[in-house]
Amino acid sequence: MSGTGISRRGFGAGLAAGLLVAPAVLRAQQLFRDYPFRLGIAAGDPAPDGFVIWTRLAPEPLVPHGGMPLAPIEVEWVVCEDPGMKRVAASGTAIARPELAHAVHVEVSGLRPDRPYFYRFRIGRERTMIGRARTAPAIGSPLAALRFGVAGCQQYEDGLYTAFGHLADEEVAFVYHYGDYIYEAREEPVKLSREGWLRPFVRQNVGGDCLSLDDYRQRYAQYKMDHDLQRAHAAAAWFVTYDDHEIANDWAGLSTPWKTPPELFAFRRAAAFQAWYEHMPVRIASLPRGPDVRMHRRARYGDLLDAYLLDTRQFRTPQPCGGNFAPDCDGARDAGATMLGAAQEAWLADGLKAREGRWTGILQQVMMMRLDRRVDDTGAAPVRNLDSWAGYLSPRERLLGLLAKRGNAVVLTGDEHQNFAGELRTREGSGDVAAVEFVSTSISSGGSGSDKRIGAERIMATSQELKFSNDQRGYLLCDLSPERWQTSFRVVDQVERVGGAISTRQVLTVPAGRAVLER
Ligand code: FE
Ligand code: CA
Repeated sequence: MSGTGISRRGFGAGLAAGLLVAPAVLRAQQLFRDYPFRLGIAAGDPAPDGFVIWTRLAPEPLVPHGGMPLAPIEVEWVVCEDPGMKRVAASGTAIARPELAHAVHVEVSGLRPDRPYFYRFRIGRERTMIGRARTAPAIGSPLAALRFGVAGCQQYEDGLYTAFGHLADEEVAFVYHYGDYIYEAREEPVKLSREGWLRPFVRQNVGGDCLSLDDYRQRYAQYKMDHDLQRAHAAAAWFVTYDDHEIANDWAGLSTPWKTPPELFAFRRAAAFQAWYEHMPVRIASLPRGPDVRMHRRARYGDLLDAYLLDTRQFRTPQPCGGNFAPDCDGARDAGATMLGAAQEAWLADGLKAREGRWTGILQQVMMMRLDRRVDDTGAAPVRNLDSWAGYLSPRERLLGLLAKRGNAVVLTGDEHQNFAGELRTREGSGDVAAVEFVSTSISSGGSGSDKRIGAERIMATSQELKFSNDQRGYLLCDLSPERWQTSFRVVDQVERVGGAISTRQVLTVPAGRAVLER
């Protein structure tokens, strides 16, 4: 196991020098005006031999530097085999550094595969809650069953994180988070929905739009104080990615819809990536270098799942035809367009050739089904979401070609703030079925919603791909076996008041060997 080691004296000696009694306790009391672990804990990127454990010291989360002195501080950590924290499997110290907002990322290794572990951080008398994380099964080993959760899109102002509270109570091996962990803008207290209804404004972001590192840090800090979110993190290790709102709405490479000069947007991207790293339980391989980060990676579970976590933002070409929801246009067929960038696409193609794992998971952000978004019959040209794969049809054909060849491929998506499920067809959505796509709704973005959004029937009727839609908040549970991939759409009845009730809206199954959705 790692965990950077400097001696206990490193930070303690100076502070303790003037104290006559109980220096360890007083040291912590002197340092922290409040509980230092107010942002909770997290685990991430589980492998057969371990995972990352994370925390951040922030006794005053919303003030600059989290209310911490600008000095490195030693944090103790322990990983145990039992929730009573008696049988220690690994332990050590790590240094929380002011350059990284006093975040701590420990890459724990040397653990045994396919087992639950329990972890905790400590400084002096101050301790975190106990978190649980499960190691992955040995790569290639026989695995009869796997359950994991899928969640994301948690606009704080739109609703409570009730769904995260329910997700915390599910028994999952891991959670895949498809991004929009924060929303960088501050919205108006009076909000209109896409259909023109007044939307409830449940709570307010602190601060304005995020631009600097301090802005993004404050936004993460506010979101991370949420108790339901903290419980969901403490319950299982997460594979986190990002989508657009961790940085700015609809960003693409170095371009933005409002045409910030690319060399200036690079500063904002660097600040946003740093804050993302500081608050996410990811490995050191995902430490940003200025405006660049390597987020795409692979996760394997026994002989059952070979999953690819993709980055559909950093390397893509700008949205065609002005982006957004717009009439179909030739730019969407640009053969030079890319969604993943050449290097990531080659990496993915290479991995897919290896044919490991019964199921192939493509864990990414934006919808692959190419829907006509017109909600009434205006007679005009079809309207597409050009920020999704519908604006990148050449890369879409290439990827679907690979997935068709590979077989047993399932795409997991977020971004839409609705539940969708369908069969992905080549040739712009009219060819053969290559894979199945499950689009997970949002935790809170968009407010409580309803069973069907206005116009849902029309969108369904005009698509050869779409088989199911629903407009409530929640998350997915995926249950895999060698014979089938089953996805349960878990929804909460409302997210505006505490106590939203969870239920299963729909269960859909993909049988092994056939790219088809069954009820
Ligand atoms: Fe979102
Ligand atoms: Ca967007």
